[in-house]
Amino acid sequence: MQELIRAKDTTNFIELSKKKYKDTYTYDETKYRGEFMNIYFNCIAHNKRIRVKPFFHLNSSKGCKECSRKFKNINI
Ligand SMILES: [Zn+2]
Repeated sequence: MQELIRAKDTTNFIELSKKKYKDTYTYDETKYRGEFMNIYFNCIAHNKRIRVKPFFHLNSSKGCKECSRKFKNINI
């Protein structure tokens, strides 16, 4: 079983997210306050604002509905 990924703070969260999603999203307004506290970021391709819990963004592929399919099997 894959080890769970946990961010320490906003910078760390963005770092980990970019490892997994490359340049799919922008995190300019993202503020990490805990792994189950909603955060916001933007999908570049679909010009959409996304709201998810950090835990699911890092440990599954939660994000933009259209884009998330591509990342289902990518672990960081
Ligand atoms: Zn998208």
